[in-house]
Amino acid sequence: MADKVLTVCPYCGSGCQLHLLVDKGQVIGAEPANGRTNEGTLCLKGHYGWDFLNDPQILTARLRKPMIRKNGVMEEVEWNEAIQYTAERLSAIKEKYGPDSIMGTGSARGPGNEANYVMQKFMRAVIGTNNIDHCARVCHGPSVAGLTYSLGDGAMSNSIPEIEHSDLLFVFGYNAPETHPIVARRIVAAKQRGAKIIVCDPRMTETGRIADMWLPLKGGSNMALVNAFGHVLVHEGLYDKRYVEANTEGFAEYVENIKKYTPEYAEGITGVKAADIRAAMREYAKAPTATILYGMGVCQFSQAVDVVKGLASLALLTGNLGKPNVGIGPVRGQNNVQGSCDMGALPNVYPGYQDVIDTAVRKKFEKAWGVELPRKKGYSLTEVPHLILKENKLKAYYIFGEDPVQSDPNAAELREALEKLEFVVVQDIFMNKTALHADVILPSTAWGEHDGVYSSADRGFQRIRKAVEPQGDVKPDWAIISEVATAMGYPMSYANTEEIWDEMRSLSPLFAGASYQKMEEQGGVQWPCPTEDHPGTPYLYKGNQFSTPSGKGRLFACEWRPPQEQPDVQFPLVLSTVREVGHYSVRTMTGNCRALRQLSDEPGFIQISPEDGADLNILDGEIVAISSRRGRIMARAQISDRVQKGATYMTYHWWVGACNELTADFLDPVSKTPELKYCAIRLERI
Ligand code: SF4
Repeated sequence: MADKVLTVCPYCGSGCQLHLLVDKGQVIGAEPANGRTNEGTLCLKGHYGWDFLNDPQILTARLRKPMIRKNGVMEEVEWNEAIQYTAERLSAIKEKYGPDSIMGTGSARGPGNEANYVMQKFMRAVIGTNNIDHCARVCHGPSVAGLTYSLGDGAMSNSIPEIEHSDLLFVFGYNAPETHPIVARRIVAAKQRGAKIIVCDPRMTETGRIADMWLPLKGGSNMALVNAFGHVLVHEGLYDKRYVEANTEGFAEYVENIKKYTPEYAEGITGVKAADIRAAMREYAKAPTATILYGMGVCQFSQAVDVVKGLASLALLTGNLGKPNVGIGPVRGQNNVQGSCDMGALPNVYPGYQDVIDTAVRKKFEKAWGVELPRKKGYSLTEVPHLILKENKLKAYYIFGEDPVQSDPNAAELREALEKLEFVVVQDIFMNKTALHADVILPSTAWGEHDGVYSSADRGFQRIRKAVEPQGDVKPDWAIISEVATAMGYPMSYANTEEIWDEMRSLSPLFAGASYQKMEEQGGVQWPCPTEDHPGTPYLYKGNQFSTPSGKGRLFACEWRPPQEQPDVQFPLVLSTVREVGHYSVRTMTGNCRALRQLSDEPGFIQISPEDGADLNILDGEIVAISSRRGRIMARAQISDRVQKGATYMTYHWWVGACNELTADFLDPVSKTPELKYCAIRLERI
């Protein structure tokens, strides 16, 4: 009989607990466990996403040995040589160009919170820079910035199980059935309990099909629609006056800023009928409990932070915060993107969201880590190509558990930038597209091969556990980084992940009481958890105490700005990047799982409307060429009545038909998140 090892699924922020079934040292299956968020259920990726651990080498092989590029060719070497070489090259670059010439990433994927803690400590204490960031920058960066401004904490205010008990779900730019199937089940369960569902999305989604109202706004018009929602709440007297007076600030300015956004005015920008805008807000305002859920359809625009603040304002206007079954939920995509933010793998905060420019905070970390720490904020991940190619500021890049050439916009520009660097370290579990540009490759253990903690999207710390021995000469990420630090003259050694976790807790008041023991006893701990006797916090802002400087929620509205690159004669269509349910992120893990490949094993498609298909004489299933100002790829056309005329959609998981060859790197000015939901393209028959 197989052994069962309790752990957490590595494929999305739902944080579903599962048992890996292990026989003779191999994983042979997975079973759902009774976790807080999944309660004995799993989606397909949870059931079948373990196969890559057995290294079937379908898509690409696991990395099994460190490698160094010698005379242009990657050669396998022993660990000692790889660590010494990495340390010497980084030390030399630091000496020659200064600490800020080196950039590093955290990883929102398999490694876990402890490895992220060690990586940000390495960049800050050993390299001496705050240049640490990760792929939250290309997804929910606007949520962290926007919600921190509006409410005080850049995370879901509510919990995943609460979704099912809300009387109204307001789903904005979020396709849960593809991205978080277990959250989608909660949405269906809410519907079955009688909840109203309102969906704002340019494309018809599966949630849209069961919705009471679907508001098909034009891509890039989010702010105009959110302003109009606020206009209806205020001008129809639907907002909660007593709540607003007692718990918010900025109301007069808010009213001024939404003045011109009548539903009729917004209809001209968004394409959503004025009557539907009014009807949606009347339902939202009258629901006893209402929850906003949103995703990349909000965050991957160049005006994303403003829209996040605008959505938070709708919750504040109606008093839908600070009690059960209400709130605002940015549902984080990758399994541990909440955790890598929690651990301070960001250029502006230490672990626990403590500001790097706060002198008292810096001194606390200096005392604990025994070194002087950098005083200014670091660079963002999405600024890297510009910093290399245009400003000549970066010389080395330590890329840990990410594949930006596949996941980030404008891939050709990023490749050019990586080639210009003097030194690139890639630490990963698979050979990937970014690793082709590496000078050193450091192979690490994968999910299932190491211990640690993940953070679910709803602030839930949960233990992940080692189930099998790794294949090959690989090490846990935290151990590799510690060895490089030691070789650079900063001794760093930990016996296990709990020791790292306890060091992190001792420096992070928000997480201080979230011990491994408490996670064992409770099955997990939701932060804030400030003391040993605190059980954790299912929903934020109880008693309407916001974590803003004044303790009040901040209302916000501003002018709508159109997306940066508009379609024209040469590139007449708009491309949005999206997800598909069978695969995860850059697909190295799920692409090496046999059952998941059966679900979806062909390079990416491009969804287009029947009208555009007819205009361009393109048939369903035909291979087409797709061009933008940045690149040209091919993919299979999928004619879909879910899509509005002028819009197209591609999933970003695929190496062939890689849509990030086309996407643009226009950034939100605050969060530096790219406008992956909007760039101009052209389709051609070939
Ligand atoms: Fe894994 Fe997410 Fe599916 Fe849950 S919903 S099983 S966490 S991929």
